[in-house]
Amino acid sequence: MPVLLTHPDCARHRPPKGHPERPERLAAALAGLDGLSLRREEPPEATDEELSVLHPRAYLAALALREQEAEQVALDPDTWLSPGSLRAARLAAGGALRAVDLVMAGEASKAFVAARPPGHHALAATPMGFCLFGNVALAARRALDRHGAERVAIVDFDVHHGNGTQALVEEDPRILFVSTHQSPFWPGTGDADDAGPHGTVMNLPLRAGTGGAAYRKLLTDVILPRLEEHRPDLLLISAGFDAHVDDPLGGLALTAGDFGWITARLCEVAERHANGRVASVLEGGYDLQALRDSAAAHVAALGGAA
Ligand SMILES: [Zn+2]
Repeated sequence: MPVLLTHPDCARHRPPKGHPERPERLAAALAGLDGLSLRREEPPEATDEELSVLHPRAYLAALALREQEAEQVALDPDTWLSPGSLRAARLAAGGALRAVDLVMAGEASKAFVAARPPGHHALAATPMGFCLFGNVALAARRALDRHGAERVAIVDFDVHHGNGTQALVEEDPRILFVSTHQSPFWPGTGDADDAGPHGTVMNLPLRAGTGGAAYRKLLTDVILPRLEEHRPDLLLISAGFDAHVDDPLGGLALTAGDFGWITARLCEVAERHANGRVASVLEGGYDLQALRDSAAAHVAALGGAA
């Protein structure tokens, strides 16, 4: 039975009214998981020591000071702090770490982290794109540093390029990072010829309007063979559901059924190389109904439907 890692305090991160990355996203994702067979656990906050594997302590200290400045503090035009934001962000990172601990220890073979804020745009010392900490990058390092994994793969199917994750992992050739994303689109990175310094980054830009059939072909023909070649001991997923056709930010045209299909194929690779170990972390997804349906299909394919 997959583990669901989530914490109600992830709703305490409150960007200004009208911001797409809103607390209601958490409830929507969880509503999609009602009725699935999951073991639910509340993760602990990631500690300074755990976060400082990738984020300088000065950055952690600076965020703590900024959070106290006002009810809502703009770190950049997209990325905000409110009282409770750092608690939420530390729980999101802590959830990703706990997910890795559980699957690497064999206590579960699949884990899904329903938390916010998301993480895949956060740089080492710079918040970006609604993100404060590199949750999935921290998770990859956890598997390598603490659990003896020799190789890890991250698949990021969020509609936006996972620029933060790439920046945090591309120097480490043990980590394969695969990102599909709309292009041209924010944040403007992730060109197909950007393979990272060791060739362990695979960027797959997609034209606006790309739908499920084309995506499934790309996964089958390009992504799955690369994952097979890397032979990861753990598969991590940056599960952004803003590539859904109804998403107000993204311009791709995937459906909840596509997310389920993609997830099932990724689980097959994990079955062959990683003893089935998959840890998936929520990233974007800004239409509440699409988020609910997509999270449902994703986690069902992780084994929650069994
Ligand atoms: Zn996104």
